[in-house]
Amino acid sequence: MAGKDRQTTMKVEVEVVRTRITLACTECKQRNYNMTKDKKAHPDRMETKKYCRFCKTHTLHKETK
Ligand SMILES: [Zn+2]
Repeated sequence: MAGKDRQTTMKVEVEVVRTRITLACTECKQRNYNMTKDKKAHPDRMETKKYCRFCKTHTLHKETK
């Protein structure tokens, strides 16, 4: 009788709503990044400067659906 299962139910409740978004380059319209964002912190569309491998430089990336 040595098979005692030890179940630790650690329930981490995440109240932050994470939404999956896609970031697209505003120059070439390529969708380069998939990420999640905190909808409470960013209720509007996100815009961030990221490297675009198609433009081969940092461009402005906008959230798209
Ligand atoms: Zn681009």
